[in-house]
Amino acid sequence: MDLYAYRSGRLFCEDVDLTALAAEVGTPAYVYSAGTLRHHYRSFAEAFAPLDATVCFAIKSLSNLSVLKLFVEWGAGFDVVSGGEVFREQRAGADMSRVVFAGVGKTDREINEAIAAGVGVFNVESEAEFENLARLARAAAAPVTAALRVNPDVDPRTHTYTTTGKKETKFGVDIERAERFFAAYGRDAYARLTGLHLHIGSPVNTIEPYVEAITKALALIERLRAAGSTIDTLDIGGGFGADYETGQAPQAARYAEKIVPLLARTGLKIIVEPGRQISCNAGVLLTEVQYLKAGGDKHFAIVDGSMTDLIRPALYDGWHFIYPVVLPDGAEPPVRSRQYAPAGAMKVDVVGGVCESSDFLGKERRLPALHRGDLLAVFSAGAYGFTMASQYNSRPRTPEVLVEGDRYRVVRRRETYEDLIDAEA
Ligand SMILES: *Cc1c(COP(=O)(O)O)cnc(C)c1O
Repeated sequence: MDLYAYRSGRLFCEDVDLTALAAEVGTPAYVYSAGTLRHHYRSFAEAFAPLDATVCFAIKSLSNLSVLKLFVEWGAGFDVVSGGEVFREQRAGADMSRVVFAGVGKTDREINEAIAAGVGVFNVESEAEFENLARLARAAAAPVTAALRVNPDVDPRTHTYTTTGKKETKFGVDIERAERFFAAYGRDAYARLTGLHLHIGSPVNTIEPYVEAITKALALIERLRAAGSTIDTLDIGGGFGADYETGQAPQAARYAEKIVPLLARTGLKIIVEPGRQISCNAGVLLTEVQYLKAGGDKHFAIVDGSMTDLIRPALYDGWHFIYPVVLPDGAEPPVRSRQYAPAGAMKVDVVGGVCESSDFLGKERRLPALHRGDLLAVFSAGAYGFTMASQYNSRPRTPEVLVEGDRYRVVRRRETYEDLIDAEA
């Protein structure tokens, strides 16, 4: 679900005409729909409400300060993965006890900052990290709460061709090692080890892998409790698929339908860490056609957005629908399906101007005839879009614009050339 729709052939975000918005803020630009974010956040909160659950939005997917403040208003918790993200949460005014801190490489500085900030749970990924956390908490005389990330060894891609099989990962510890881990560290007075953390990958477009992972974790919790450990929290992670294409991923309620009954009578506090399912479809990248070019039997639309703004296509073949912001007269609104083929369509590669052949936003897209100056919307760009943007080729980063109803505001201004060299000697 999202609040982008065509009205009389013009694309709107909620009640804002994106042509008018682009005329004011320029292109390329990220646009976010607050209503879409709220819908998806609430869907998770409601779906998991039968449990004692906290929805911790994974802010590496979308971390603009004004967006985070909305989530604070809505009562969300947060999943962070760095000192910088801890800092963002403090500035957003988050209740830091509802923040969980993951990551395999937390430095002393990051841990000390998170201890001082009062972060709720440290999700710990190795013995060495636990020992370091306990040492730093003791030195600060500030007890912390920790959960062990276990690798339940489930394949999150069960229904695709690309079966990766069982593989060592740098994340967490294998489930067989967990009992030894709790035996060694379960009684530490400064790092109270009282939870388990799972995060099986992303995006996971099916529900079974969660069921399998949670079932394994519950069996482990029983063994740990039998051995005298106190376990009061299970964090089931994120990775819930998002609809890059219509109907591609189950929505929160469908995941919860299978997951809630497993956890209902465990007495555990539950943490859920969705990122992309909340933020993905809330965002579009607006970009303007600069040049059209034919080469061999290919047609290119060269646009002012690029891999520096949205790297997902270049990085891991991420798919984003790309449609004109203004449709040709009388054209039907496009549907987000690969079968979409408007009358008089041309197949075009939508590419950026960066000096890399991997700089594309979409390949072989059937689009109405394009012209220099046309605006295009790159859909499903709210997650891992701006947060992965770079200044490569000395391209200033785009603005971010937040839409609420019929109003919008620039919540990050377009970077200037001065910004490019500001931190340099
Ligand atoms: C990245 C991440 C998430 C969010 O993943 P999504 O695919 O955006 O839902 C949640 N938890 C952890 C630990 C992560 O690293």
